[in-house]
Amino acid sequence: VAPSHVPPTVSDFSPSTIGDFVQFRDVYKSYGENLVVMDHMNLDMRADDRLVIIGPSGSGKSSLLRVMMGLEGVQGGQIGFQGKPYIHGADSGRSKRIDAKLQKQIGMVFQHYTLFPHLSVLSNLILAPVKVGGISKAEATERARVYLARLGLESKLHAYPSQLSGGQKQRVAIARALMLEPKLMLFDEVTSALDPEMVIEVQNVMLQLAEQKMAMIIVTHDMHFARDIATRVVFCASGKIVEQGAPADMFKCPKEARTREFLEKVL
Ligand code: ADP
Ligand code: MG
Repeated sequence: VAPSHVPPTVSDFSPSTIGDFVQFRDVYKSYGENLVVMDHMNLDMRADDRLVIIGPSGSGKSSLLRVMMGLEGVQGGQIGFQGKPYIHGADSGRSKRIDAKLQKQIGMVFQHYTLFPHLSVLSNLILAPVKVGGISKAEATERARVYLARLGLESKLHAYPSQLSGGQKQRVAIARALMLEPKLMLFDEVTSALDPEMVIEVQNVMLQLAEQKMAMIIVTHDMHFARDIATRVVFCASGKIVEQGAPADMFKCPKEARTREFLEKVL
């Protein structure tokens, strides 16, 4: 067995039986000296997977998504995306992003909608595609109309964020992420700040994406939604994947005591 500090070579990101779409290999991340949020983590995902990450507050779920998005570095290990090296750890914690092109193929939506308040819905949507996606304003506008219509928001094209409900803002945030035509979408507790009646409209949009076979990594505390949308549920605690499996198995008969304990509290 090779010592763990030897980074895997490119060929280690070849297709595996578990998943070649996303591969975490021995990923290590800590904040400061003591707070380890990824303790030599390995994770595999296929292009037709919808992973739902569950775990106690502070277990590193958001960190995992931010790392995958390329917003934060890791100190060790490697992450592959679509069979290619994507990120590798560096002692400084500012991991080297091997491939910025791959990063552009990931979209992310956060708990607190991050729309620009001074821009209309349309301007929010076309900003990145025109600036970094290199498409014309006319083409981006056409694309914005298509996505807004798909998400039931065609009448809000010229509205400003302050004129939208929380659920509508989150749907616009999802539409904006879709504008760059990502291959993978990351959702970090996107319904946690919403009133109950708005939760469903946002979850329905995500279920619609699932039907269209969008690859997704979703962090949620809503176990019923997890059951509906996940192909696989991943339970994380203390920087490790404690247990993972199909939603029916995980929720009905979790194998690990820690998983059972957690599920008893949230189910
Ligand atoms: P979760 O989303 O599961 O609640 P997070 O990834 O947000 O977990 O955080 C994991 C742990 O790391 C928490 O203890 C949190 O306080 C800490 N943490 C998160 N971001 C930072 C940061 N930028 N600097 C220092 N500590 C952080
Ligand atoms: Mg979080």
